[in-house]
Amino acid sequence: MELRKNQEITLKIDDLGNNGEGIGHVDGYALFVKDALPGETIRAKIMKCNKKYGFARMMDVLECSDSGRVEPKCPVARQCGGCTLQHLSYEKQLDYKEKKVRDCLVRIGGVSEEKVEWLPAIGMEMPWHYRNKAQFPVRMQKDESGTPRPVAGFYAGRTHSIIPVTDCAIQHPCMKEILETVLFWMQEQHVTAYDEASHRGLVRHIYIRRAYTTGQIMVCLVINGRRISGDLQRTLIEKLSGIPGMTGILLNINTDQTNVILGKKMQLIWGQEYIEDRIGEISYHISPQSFYQVNPVQTEKLYQTALEFASLTGEEVVWDLYCGIGTISLFLAQNAKKVYGVEIVPEAIKNARENARLNGIHNAEFFCGAAEEVVPRLAEELGGVRNLPGEEGNEAESETEKMSTLADVVVVDPPRKGCDGVLLDTIVKMAPEKIVYVSCDPATLARDVKLLGEKGYEVRKVRACDMFGQGGHTECVVEIQRKHI
Ligand code: SAH
Repeated sequence: MELRKNQEITLKIDDLGNNGEGIGHVDGYALFVKDALPGETIRAKIMKCNKKYGFARMMDVLECSDSGRVEPKCPVARQCGGCTLQHLSYEKQLDYKEKKVRDCLVRIGGVSEEKVEWLPAIGMEMPWHYRNKAQFPVRMQKDESGTPRPVAGFYAGRTHSIIPVTDCAIQHPCMKEILETVLFWMQEQHVTAYDEASHRGLVRHIYIRRAYTTGQIMVCLVINGRRISGDLQRTLIEKLSGIPGMTGILLNINTDQTNVILGKKMQLIWGQEYIEDRIGEISYHISPQSFYQVNPVQTEKLYQTALEFASLTGEEVVWDLYCGIGTISLFLAQNAKKVYGVEIVPEAIKNARENARLNGIHNAEFFCGAAEEVVPRLAEELGGVRNLPGEEGNEAESETEKMSTLADVVVVDPPRKGCDGVLLDTIVKMAPEKIVYVSCDPATLARDVKLLGEKGYEVRKVRACDMFGQGGHTECVVEIQRKHI
């Protein structure tokens, strides 16, 4: 069937895309339809046709069998680009994520479906108000009377126009008070919000973090300027510092014309520059630039799963690559002989070293740099030194054998783009018994698993752990074992 723009068709939705859109097919041609769900037959209007796929708008649901559609909690769920799955029951969201991991690993990763233990997804008990971090863009927008006022909220899907919202359904409730306080201060003190088109105006983003176990809060105003006046600082501090839990107020200087939220320079104007949180038995200092998982309750379950998959006895040398502030490293260090952590962000490594000290952990060592550069270098250095007990004077061993004692378990937790190829090759040369892959993107995970599969590693266990309830992102942990021939 030839499709053209504005044409209305009946379409059966059979899958969900990465951004929560429904996918339907017309003679094999895929159409993406926002807000439509698998199991539904809809009336759709074609909006755009590319060569390989197109986009349509949902006009009506005509028929529906067990699609799991629910009324979204948030009044702006449909416009906001944040929660792409709020109209799907939480149970079905989990099914979808579990299936997504499985499909990617089987189809792209070449994993044998029968050989793998597919564990049920770990869902959230309360998939609302769970997030501990938010970065709200701020803009001037006209109110009903036509007066420009500062607003904060979220970007509408795929655009940079803001949907004003202060009481987000997945953020911690403290965010509302903080946002309203900052917006009130802006209005009272005539502080302007940033305008992308003219690159003028002061406040770009309000960045908030809250530690789940201690309730400590950090607020950082990202500004398009080098400083703000003493008076402005004083009034801002007066207003914010009274909020229960407030621990640090910072400015971040970002005068670049860029989409990147944080600039390089942080300036502490009140309190301390980190917040402290606990996961299990371990305490962590978190600075604003460091990565920290956004879902504290699920994080503990995620790390517990990684720990289980690593099956440590206390004798192992473990590597934690893409380690952030050393969260997984220190979690594992309790059951390992030695842990090496590698991370690219200097502030995060500083936190990681502090965190080891804070918890009296002496068997974890941290290195700053790109994993694909640091690990090959370290592997060579450490491989040459061979300072592990009882192994002196074995120079005659082959390269692989020599390096094999370097790593018993390697944990990787890369960003969405997955692991670097050079890093994967190095890991294979280090020949750990196990690789535990913590992934926030099943597609790149599957790509990396395929490569590891070709080099003698096979997937044993897979478990999704939902970190992003109401949203489409999927997190999982995979246990990968070295094959012994
Ligand atoms: N395991 C940590 C962090 C995971 S997020 C946790 O659970 O908290 C991924 C981390 O990889 C981020 O901290 C990011 O700064 C870091 N990163 C990104 N690219 C990197 C690279 N090439 N080498 C090392 N670390 C990198």
